[in-house]
Amino acid sequence: MYNPKSLKAEEFISDEEIKETLAYADANKNNVELIDKLIQKAKELKGLNHREASVLLACDIPEKVQEMYKLAEQIKKDFYGNRIVLFAPLYLSNYCVNGCVYCPYHAKNKHIARKKLTQEDIIKEVTALQDMGHKRLAIEAGEDPVNNPIEYILECIKTIYSIKHKNGAIRRVNVNIAATTVENYKKLKEAGIGTYILFQETYHKESYEKLHPTGPKHNYAYHTEAMDRAMEGGIDDVGLGVLFGLELYRYEFAGLLMHAEHLEAVHGVGPHTISVPRIKRADDIDPTAFDNGISDDIFAKICALIRISVPYTGMIISTRESQSVREKVLPLGVSQISGASKTSVGGYADDEKEEITSEQFDVSDNRTLDEVVNWLMKLGYIPSFCTACYREGRTGDRFMSLCKSRQILNCCHPNALMTLKEYLEDYASDETQKVGMELINKELKNIPNEKVRKIAYEHINDISNGKRDFRF
Ligand code: SF4
Ligand code: SF4
Repeated sequence: MYNPKSLKAEEFISDEEIKETLAYADANKNNVELIDKLIQKAKELKGLNHREASVLLACDIPEKVQEMYKLAEQIKKDFYGNRIVLFAPLYLSNYCVNGCVYCPYHAKNKHIARKKLTQEDIIKEVTALQDMGHKRLAIEAGEDPVNNPIEYILECIKTIYSIKHKNGAIRRVNVNIAATTVENYKKLKEAGIGTYILFQETYHKESYEKLHPTGPKHNYAYHTEAMDRAMEGGIDDVGLGVLFGLELYRYEFAGLLMHAEHLEAVHGVGPHTISVPRIKRADDIDPTAFDNGISDDIFAKICALIRISVPYTGMIISTRESQSVREKVLPLGVSQISGASKTSVGGYADDEKEEITSEQFDVSDNRTLDEVVNWLMKLGYIPSFCTACYREGRTGDRFMSLCKSRQILNCCHPNALMTLKEYLEDYASDETQKVGMELINKELKNIPNEKVRKIAYEHINDISNGKRDFRF
């Protein structure tokens, strides 16, 4: 029944295979010989499949867990260096016809403010985001064929890319909208989107159907097969994720990796990113009503194991997580974080003062982008606003070959420094500027290729002289 190459959800995410995987993991969680072999395999950057990674997730032997963490840190350093890419979510509309029980936008919630941005509102929102320094957005919208049809989403994308305020520009728009048709994915591709992101929420079919009792999202197969349709429509960067807390985390973890293996088996390229959201409090939603919440330690272990299992896949955490949790997981392999996020519709331009909120979840990290940039640098990271790959056509397997050829230090690293320099020139506070310039001067020296290093120095100077938008 289990077949990673199948296009049927229940065959590539086979419940039977996950249950057998969990039993295998339980039987081997103290099998030190096997665990050592798996850690060794991961060290060779070969990744791990869902069965192998599940054994490591089940293993509680403290020194082995420490080895996993150390390895995740090493892989993060080798592949992603000390760069962290920044982005912000932009909520377009919270009209939604679905009944997801964990989301305040579910259709039956009558006490949330329903809002949908007009194109004029979008100009205000994006101007506010550009004025913070953001270059990369993830747009979000509920599913509602009347209020948020694909034409509306396409129009919003066009508006977002067209706004050029002072030196600001949004250079990459990632899209997080409901599962749709191949035709609509083609339209999104033509509109120039970056990654198409769709969270599975849970891979457990029975729970999925209970958690999505009404609306088109109730259809497990249609939702789970969405990434195949997206890829058929020409989108080759797709982002997976589950909402941890809905089902048993070990089940979700195995399902997530099986989904990644499926994409690789069918399309020859795995997911571009994996997000690891945890359920949060929100209007009408009490996270304690879900019994599968995970501790910060388990969350960190999941992040570390995703890093070593799929070393070429970016990992994203949002402002759902607090500063301290983010500090804990950043070294374990996170490559992208959101900063200064508002999770309400229209939240950037108007600070929502009304009592009736339109936000999707409580943000745990409320700092400004300047504070986040400053904090990252003080922790030794390079905040990056890079969007180069998508704009150079390095998507899908072309992006993967950049990763695999280890040219990241000659590419992502100078791009991070140049986009950080733009940020410092245009948006940073004096103190952030000072810390940032010291960091740039230090990190320029770490570009291995002499020619690239020389060009990067020149471009950093050009940026001081008012020029913008350089990339490798
Ligand atoms: S999770 Fe998405 S589809 Fe479900 S209610 Fe919320 S906005 Fe709608
Ligand atoms: S060069 Fe490509 S992979 Fe590297 S940070 Fe920029 S967009 Fe990401």
